Amino acid sequence: MRTVSTLDELRDSRLSLDGTVGLVPTMGFLHDGHLSLIRRARDECKRVVVSIFVNPTQFGPKEDLAKYPRDLERDFRLIEPFTDLVWTPAPESMYPTGYQTWVEVEAVTRPLEGAMRPGHFKGVTTVVAKLFNAVQPHKAYFGQKDAQQAAVIRRMVRDLNFPIEIVVCPTQREADGLAMSSRNVYLDTEQRKAATVLFHSLSAARELYESGERDAATVREKMKDVLASEPLAEPQYVSCADYDTLEELNEIKGKALLSMAVFIGKTRLIDNFVLG
Ligand code: AMP
Repeated sequence: MRTVSTLDELRDSRLSLDGTVGLVPTMGFLHDGHLSLIRRARDECKRVVVSIFVNPTQFGPKEDLAKYPRDLERDFRLIEPFTDLVWTPAPESMYPTGYQTWVEVEAVTRPLEGAMRPGHFKGVTTVVAKLFNAVQPHKAYFGQKDAQQAAVIRRMVRDLNFPIEIVVCPTQREADGLAMSSRNVYLDTEQRKAATVLFHSLSAARELYESGERDAATVREKMKDVLASEPLAEPQYVSCADYDTLEELNEIKGKALLSMAVFIGKTRLIDNFVLG
């Protein structure tokens, strides 16, 4: 596994990668969720490139950029068996003084995470476009865990004609259902137990759907009821939306996305299930 940080080094190393190249963009502090993306890339591509970059432009002014967990040495050890090239750009090289060019996707970035985190997706799409331009992968791997991010990237790739196949991989969970996340380390023991309420809420809604319910408001109410049963959970949004446009549904037809953002103490967790 080769490790590079500057853009010149990245370009040099990229030239020596032959065959299909798969890119897995991450912010580091890797867990089995990230590793599932890297393994999938390993299975499908001759070469695997992983980027590790805590992208400052996707964090809001009140968000956890400075305290976002980092452990590069451990990350390198975990990905070494599956990775050809790891790129850890420095923030100053991605956003040098005078930086003023942004990629913005419109309607699909507005609801859900976009409404709660203004500017977040502008940071995500800009950095992902820059990673795509630098690495020029044939395929890029994203997690269903960040469902709106995946929808936004799919839209950007279609709209800007990136010749890249976007592969969205299933959410990896702990044994009790909690979606793996680098932010789970912020939870204390009591909060960690309470955090399973997201999975239980989504599961209850899916059961309702599987028993034939198609009224989206009823499904949303079910999710809210289960969340309300956990005193440590403070829901920020609960959604039952169209899978591609993320517009809220009245009636569930075709593919739908159940999603939620919930504070457990100061930690903001997101999770989702796909229906249909
Ligand atoms: P992050 O480092 O949080 O930016 O995540 C990097 C990539 O890993 C994104 O495409 C995430 O959607 C994906 N990812 C994060 N958590 C999980 C998970 N539990 N299961 C599957 N993919 C995940």
